[in-house]
Amino acid sequence: MSFLDKLKFLFTGAAHDVGASPSAMIPCEEALSVVDDFLEGELPGVSHEQVKAHFDACQRCYPHLHLEEAFRDAIRRAGTGQRAPVGLKLKLMELLAEADA
Ligand SMILES: [Zn+2]
Repeated sequence: MSFLDKLKFLFTGAAHDVGASPSAMIPCEEALSVVDDFLEGELPGVSHEQVKAHFDACQRCYPHLHLEEAFRDAIRRAGTGQRAPVGLKLKLMELLAEADA
């Protein structure tokens, strides 16, 4: 990998990339900002494959996707149409932040 490629690699935010082409990788910020839409299957601007590839390859972002999925699952099980307790998600995000540190 050339120095220039390393720089490009760093700027994509794909620090934990495990094989996907860095140039095809969307930045972590972008992947995380569309995680809701990704799970809804409605992505504005980015392709589903690009986001999926990111979460597949990025160990830093994967827990966020996993958490979001688990959260949605819990809500679904709690009953359709029911609103999530606001504090629950905040608590989960707190726990995730601690686990990340
Ligand atoms: Zn990432």
